Amino acid sequence: MYIRLLLLLTILCVLTCPVQTHAEEQLSEEQIHTKRMELFQKSEALTHIPWYYLAAVDQYERSLRFARKDREKPSSLISIYIDAEKWSGPLNPHLQDENPKTISLFNGFGRDGDYDGKASIKSDEDIMAAFTDYVLQYGTDRDNFKLALWDYYKRDKTVSIIMGKAKIYKHFGTIHLNDKAFPLPLRFNYSYRNTWGDARGWGGRRIHEGTDLFADYGVPVRATSYGIIEMKGWNRYGGWRIGIRDINNTYHYFAHLSGFSDNLKVGQVVEPGMVIGGVGSSGYGPPGTSGKFPPHLHYGMYKDNGLTEWSFDPYPHLRQWERKDRIKSRKS
Ligand SMILES: [Zn+2]
Repeated sequence: MYIRLLLLLTILCVLTCPVQTHAEEQLSEEQIHTKRMELFQKSEALTHIPWYYLAAVDQYERSLRFARKDREKPSSLISIYIDAEKWSGPLNPHLQDENPKTISLFNGFGRDGDYDGKASIKSDEDIMAAFTDYVLQYGTDRDNFKLALWDYYKRDKTVSIIMGKAKIYKHFGTIHLNDKAFPLPLRFNYSYRNTWGDARGWGGRRIHEGTDLFADYGVPVRATSYGIIEMKGWNRYGGWRIGIRDINNTYHYFAHLSGFSDNLKVGQVVEPGMVIGGVGSSGYGPPGTSGKFPPHLHYGMYKDNGLTEWSFDPYPHLRQWERKDRIKSRKS
């Protein structure tokens, strides 16, 4: 009888265990952010590397995993990518090596951060330990961290994107920054349709990379995401235009503005809904040219994957943000 009961309990446990892991995958986005933040803060306590530096690298790498086919989609809390050769050590004959001693013998990145005796490339804490140990060879201040990033990625744009994210995280004190806003306040008159890829006349053979939102002169133009101002100024096609990089490596481009909000600077942190300028018709000539076409906001989106950047259709996103803003305004 006892044996039967024991057997039954064993079977029950085996049956419920996968259910538990399944439940773990069902964590809300906010709960995942909380767990991730705990890991960053734990690493900061151990290494004195500011949590927002670690969060910025991790978020950069997470975005890459969604944007690139040669990377696996994120399956754990931490997304920092260290390839097997780097992990085990360049001359290590055992590419899947998890032995901290032999890994260190071959100068590999792998570390045992969770003290289970193995340096596992699949363990969040082991990856954090490996990456922070790498950074500590340089130092924990801003300049040394940037140097560590440069040696790791060998790409200026990647370093500046990661430093931008660090500034955003530090500013808001959280990594829970996924909210978005429609670029125009819904109470104004405006219209837009999907013009992705349409041919355009001026400036040679170019296709239309973005969505045109038609509205009156001076209608407020708002940041659509949490981000950092990467570019601001005149361009003969775009007129007065501004570019904002969000935390997913996406670059949001606002063109033909009538002007900018006061005190807006490159390197400034913005949040969704913050007014950055007004609708205008600037562009298609030397600085100050305006009125060559009806006033509208040209809105473009570009994705960086760590190697290159390309434009994609903002229209479905605009529709989604507009819908969400409408729901929000009904609630308030
Ligand atoms: Zn346009």
